[in-house]
Amino acid sequence: MSNIELGDLPEKDRETIKVNRPAEEGRESNFQLPAGMTTEMPEKFKLLRERIRREIPDRREGLNTPRVEDFVRSQGLSLSEYLIFDEESSKQLSSILTSEGFRPVDVEHLGGRHYPELQLCTIRRFKEYEEVGGPINIERNMVHELAHASSAYNLYLEDGGYHGMRVGFSSDKGEGTGYFLEEGFAEMLAAEYVKQNVSTADEDKMAETLGSDARFDSLDIVAEIRNEKGETMYKLPLKYFLLGTKSHAMSSPAGFAMEMLCKQNPKLWPAIIKSRTSAEGLREVARNINEIDPSLYEKLRAHLYDTDGFQRGLHDTVKAIGGWLD
Ligand SMILES: [Zn+2]
Repeated sequence: MSNIELGDLPEKDRETIKVNRPAEEGRESNFQLPAGMTTEMPEKFKLLRERIRREIPDRREGLNTPRVEDFVRSQGLSLSEYLIFDEESSKQLSSILTSEGFRPVDVEHLGGRHYPELQLCTIRRFKEYEEVGGPINIERNMVHELAHASSAYNLYLEDGGYHGMRVGFSSDKGEGTGYFLEEGFAEMLAAEYVKQNVSTADEDKMAETLGSDARFDSLDIVAEIRNEKGETMYKLPLKYFLLGTKSHAMSSPAGFAMEMLCKQNPKLWPAIIKSRTSAEGLREVARNINEIDPSLYEKLRAHLYDTDGFQRGLHDTVKAIGGWLD
């Protein structure tokens, strides 16, 4: 047991990073539990998770879930519990969750949600996306949610509540901070999973969807996203698009930014992995981003969870690096 020195953290983060989960399966231990708190999930959350498991069918057939799990572990991340639900179950699942004060499941965006209190990810089996692009369009969303769930900053109040300190880089304090970094991390991994696992037929499908005659030899090829006037708004590698569509996640621009930052400073990636379970890792991430540009971490951390925030952060990154790395 030891105190964590917070001196080199940005001011706003100091209050929020006080503890870390104790060593578990070889995780480092630098842990001091504040009074009245515990890392043990209260019974009511365990019961709720069990009820969800009992009442909602897990629809993972036809998905390569072992491949997803291996991918997450191969990145050095711990694996969380998850539930794949189909569209028929989404109302029932939402009503169970909302009756206990939780947010309903996500049926828009990409259909995934991570519930840190329950240490559970829910991923919608989005028929529309699966039909056009195959199971990889669902598997990539599993990777995204499981990436969030690798955050080990869960603390519970001894009287049975949850202390929402942070999920990885994100904290709900005030308007919230760190979403750009947290969502970017999850999206970067989802895109990497797609890149590693698409077939040649998938690549042909991508080419066809995006209106290219040429076969793509790599999903690292960068597309330009233009507005109605034909001006380029931002760029994005093909691996971020849902296969068979011209759509990508709202947070994909943040994913591309994180990817470029990791290319620019190779020390950043190992720091990111360390930061999932260690406050010292969080400080290393901040330092490594600021080695690229001294004001960049503060800028990126401030962006809100919205389309504008994700795109602006991508442009901040490109400016700091001095161009698009592709
Ligand atoms: Zn996310």
